[in-house]
Amino acid sequence: MFQRAWGENPLAAVADAKPHPLPDRSQDLNPNAAWGRIQTRAASNDHRPWVNWLWAWKNPQPRKALAAIRFEPVWGAVVVSALTAGNTSAPPLRWESRRKAMLTLPKAARFDPAVDEKGQLKQIRLDMGQVISAMPRPVYPDSTWARTYNNRVPEISQREILVEYTAHPEARFHLPGGRTVPVARVGAAGRSGPIQAVRPADQRVTLRVVEKGTGRPVAVKLHVHGQAGEYLAPIDRHRIPNPDWFEDYSTDFAHQGIHWCTYIPGETRTNLPLGRVYLEVSKGFEIRPVRQVVRVTRATRQITIELEKVLPWRQQGWVSADTHVHFLSPPTALLEGAGEGVNVVNLLASQWGELMTNVGDFDGSTTFGSREAGGDGEYLVRVGTENRQHVLGHISLLGYSGDIIAPMTTGGPDESAIGDAVEVLLTEWARQCKAQDGVVILPHFPNPRSEHAATLVSQAADGVEMTAWGNLYGGIDPYSLSDWYRYLNCGYLTAAVGGTDKMSATTAVGTVRTYARIDPNEEFTYQAWKQAVRRAHTFVTYGPLMELAVEGRPPGSRIQMSATGGTADVTWQVASVTVPMSRVELIVNGEIRRSQAVRPDQDAGHWPVKLDRSSWLALLVRGHYYDKPEIIAAHSSPVMVEVAGTPFFAAADALTILEQIEGALAYLETVGTRAETAARKRMRLVLTAAHRSLHNRMHQAGEYHRHTPTQDHPEHH
Ligand SMILES: [Zn+2]
Ligand SMILES: [Zn+2]
Repeated sequence: MFQRAWGENPLAAVADAKPHPLPDRSQDLNPNAAWGRIQTRAASNDHRPWVNWLWAWKNPQPRKALAAIRFEPVWGAVVVSALTAGNTSAPPLRWESRRKAMLTLPKAARFDPAVDEKGQLKQIRLDMGQVISAMPRPVYPDSTWARTYNNRVPEISQREILVEYTAHPEARFHLPGGRTVPVARVGAAGRSGPIQAVRPADQRVTLRVVEKGTGRPVAVKLHVHGQAGEYLAPIDRHRIPNPDWFEDYSTDFAHQGIHWCTYIPGETRTNLPLGRVYLEVSKGFEIRPVRQVVRVTRATRQITIELEKVLPWRQQGWVSADTHVHFLSPPTALLEGAGEGVNVVNLLASQWGELMTNVGDFDGSTTFGSREAGGDGEYLVRVGTENRQHVLGHISLLGYSGDIIAPMTTGGPDESAIGDAVEVLLTEWARQCKAQDGVVILPHFPNPRSEHAATLVSQAADGVEMTAWGNLYGGIDPYSLSDWYRYLNCGYLTAAVGGTDKMSATTAVGTVRTYARIDPNEEFTYQAWKQAVRRAHTFVTYGPLMELAVEGRPPGSRIQMSATGGTADVTWQVASVTVPMSRVELIVNGEIRRSQAVRPDQDAGHWPVKLDRSSWLALLVRGHYYDKPEIIAAHSSPVMVEVAGTPFFAAADALTILEQIEGALAYLETVGTRAETAARKRMRLVLTAAHRSLHNRMHQAGEYHRHTPTQDHPEHH
């Protein structure tokens, strides 16, 4: 046999080329068809047009010298390509199970992660074995581990390289300059040299995470590493998560690509080394995160971590949500949501050029995790769609019933397929979603920045989304806020929501999240959550939690005052077990009216605020980890106080909104790929109607303004 069919494996021979790791993303572009195989990161190398198979025969009488070897074909021809002889203590074709070691590079040497076409590194190779992976050592603050904060990324060593390998006991490492080191000598403790052993992870341990009080196992995010900084994944999880776009939709989180975590449903089995291991466990913003050191011995069979819920927001009717997640399967999203303490994950199907994702998961009816679907009703996943247009903008259609709202993209790349016409507007998608009982969110607000102005003016959106992607430390983008403020200043109330737009393992579900308060008379269901968002009883947060009331009324409320205005009583309460807080601020009509330093973990206060014209009021919370800059860590939806005779209106803001709608019209008229005439007329009407409604208000307010050439009108001349 020089070639084999799939599944027909030799039982006592191996191929003449050894298995090897596959080049990863740091390498050159891989051919498209190889993408899936590359995810395995391991190739057997015995499916080639010609393979020489190697047998190792033991001399049954080792004291006698061999005189000859005779081949007697049983069937067909036998090709003998080569023969060699040697002495080994163990069968020479058999390697031992995986080990780890630390390679210290010479001073001034730089680690080269590139592998050649045989999957081999330049700086470290094995003869009778293979290097599986090599990466610069993550250096964690192990001596102060329990006092440091979760998700903090390690330093990366410049000279120490963590190497995983599998080898025959008599193999040798080959280092630059022809230097070799026997594998057998690597294990020796206390020995100096360029390669040091890392304790093997060979103690099978059950890891449990339970809720304090009930002892019930709970889903969490988990990170474990050993004394060399090596990541210790559960046995059914990625040992090497892939941080690239659309390349890892398993249940991993790779913070900044280097701090690796996974999600477990409360219990998992893992292989740990003896000695100290460092655990990090978390479950959202209401439970105190844990960093803990555990000493593993041969007697360690089980490790139990207790988590304590310390902030009672959920008990008070608040539920958390991520409005924007892609690519995960619904059950994976359910696990990650539970592990992050996110009650509602909105998983959004979409189209990306010729690629359709999660479309088979959309059925317009199932809420995964609900009681009706066999879950416990505490963590929910619902598949919606993100409908996208690279110029006009994106719009997320959450939790709607019935048929999928398609096409999900229009107008060509980089969102749509080449040649797709612009046949439907964001505003029309939004209305369709509402007709199907969905919630409409403007994702990663305000970009792509164009037609959503018409959607907001038409009051077809329920929320604007503050987005995190993978950044745990960026906070709420002031640019998103200031653009949202323009619409509030003109009286268009939309809820603030938080969504991650997770598209890779570098983003954790719920990094930024929506808190929405369910009606106290209602049970928590997906339907109740939609109602809470529509009422704008929400806040967005990277960690701090809040309560805000204006005259006893929560965010999303409208309060009437007489023409003389008056004093509004603003009360607030804030708390955080993750990012430490620094200040709270009261935003009135887009400006900071009050600012007060707060304790890092919890605080409360109240302000009397004089209002002499219509005003929206919202609470902004700042905070930061000790080694990071201050961020806007949380922001509430507004309370709208209407003072009679002073409508919400800000001319400068209204003008930019109008210009944005004019931009959308200009795109339709000029470079947008044309749909048939009826569709074009229909879309034009939608945009001009939105434009007219705000434009009329502008003229009523007696505001002079300019237009772009496409929308000029005779009143100005
Ligand atoms: Zn988007
Ligand atoms: Zn998206």
